[in-house]
Amino acid sequence: MNLDSSNLPLLDEALRKLEQGFADLPDVTPEGDSPRMGEILLQVAARMQDNFPYQHPLYAGQMIKPPHAIARLAYALSMWINPNNHALDGGRASSAMEKECVALIAHMFGWHEHLGHLSSSGTIANLEALWIAGQLRPGARILGSHQAHYTHSRISQVLKLDYAGVAVDERGRMDMDALERQLADGNVGTVVATLGTTGTGSVDPLAAILALRNKHDFRVHVDTAYGGYFRLVDNLDADARRAFACIDQADSIVVDPHKHGLQPYGCGCVLFRDPRVGSIYKHDSPYTYFSSDELHLGEISLECSRAGASAVALWATMRLLPLEPGGEFARGLARGRGAALDLFRRLESDPRYLTVMRPELDILVWAPAGARASDISARSAKHFEQAARAHLHLALMELPASLLKTHWPQVEFDCDSVTCLRSCLMKPEHDEWVDTIWSILDKLADQQ
Ligand SMILES: *Cc1c(COP(=O)(O)O)cnc(C)c1O
Repeated sequence: MNLDSSNLPLLDEALRKLEQGFADLPDVTPEGDSPRMGEILLQVAARMQDNFPYQHPLYAGQMIKPPHAIARLAYALSMWINPNNHALDGGRASSAMEKECVALIAHMFGWHEHLGHLSSSGTIANLEALWIAGQLRPGARILGSHQAHYTHSRISQVLKLDYAGVAVDERGRMDMDALERQLADGNVGTVVATLGTTGTGSVDPLAAILALRNKHDFRVHVDTAYGGYFRLVDNLDADARRAFACIDQADSIVVDPHKHGLQPYGCGCVLFRDPRVGSIYKHDSPYTYFSSDELHLGEISLECSRAGASAVALWATMRLLPLEPGGEFARGLARGRGAALDLFRRLESDPRYLTVMRPELDILVWAPAGARASDISARSAKHFEQAARAHLHLALMELPASLLKTHWPQVEFDCDSVTCLRSCLMKPEHDEWVDTIWSILDKLADQQ
């Protein structure tokens, strides 16, 4: 069985409990379900079979992780109410739950005071952070590494902010010499540090970036949409650990509960260290207004209507799995990372494969060996297809030759970028499946 429905009776029980809260209302006769619903739902199920098996541990490709069962149930439960977290009168309970969750996430990053809220995605959360950045430093440039999420440059275009990319080192992290040169040119308002790049899970050296603020005056926005929860994990290498440890010194942070926080899509989060940025959303409001319990989330958000269900699902998940270092949630992340390191070691010691960098989180990039870059790209594409036929679902990624040259000195680079294989080992169970994954890769390598 790989779609567990054994917990559905819990939903029914919870619905009865929810209904008790409205028991004093006059009865409404249900309109009755259409007899066609069952038939149509079966059509939906049939259509939905056309998906990669994201829920299965042999799906080890893109950043896709099934929500926790409690998130699914709590989300579904709240659908009978369908609260809107734009305003308190659209969703009183779910707005309160959102504020509690967001405060706990801020607390995870070391902040006891903050301004923040959930958003429909990491992109919208970053849009909001860069909008504030632009308001506070009008006309100043935004810098992010060449491996930063592609939406930063596009968001900057939307906001009419000047954006420039910074070179990365051989491990996909922002290059500090390049950053210093660009800062020396002047007029940099904000540096976007990515803690866990989307492609390779690389962690920008945040401590070094923050230290440059002694010499240059700029804000730091940390985009840790993917990696943020790794702050709780105890099996990071020293560099990544150091970066996550100083997140509290950033000006703003983005993290996606719908990436590693076990949530359905539609759940990003943006946080600001200084609650006074709230005054940018709405003018001439006193500071206290923005930290008050009466605050309407819609008044500190660019979005209007937003799913209260996302907050309900997140609240339930964080009750079950609190954000504690060494707790069950943190151990789940650490297991995925352990799986990535395990697979990395096997690939690294096998001459039929080429590895790039030791994973900093749980994302691994590698390629089948070849004499020329173009052979390697062709083999990666073939492996991707063949692995899928053996039920192992990987992802493909283009990496610039400049990043790969130091790792693969024996390869002849006949093109500017190389297609590699990529795997996000995001599920805790991945640690038990590395043997199976490896046996499939082992066979593929023999066939090439
Ligand atoms: C996924 C990701 C984003 C974009 O977030 P969405 O929720 O997909 O919109 C931004 N930055 C990083 C580092 C990411 O991994």
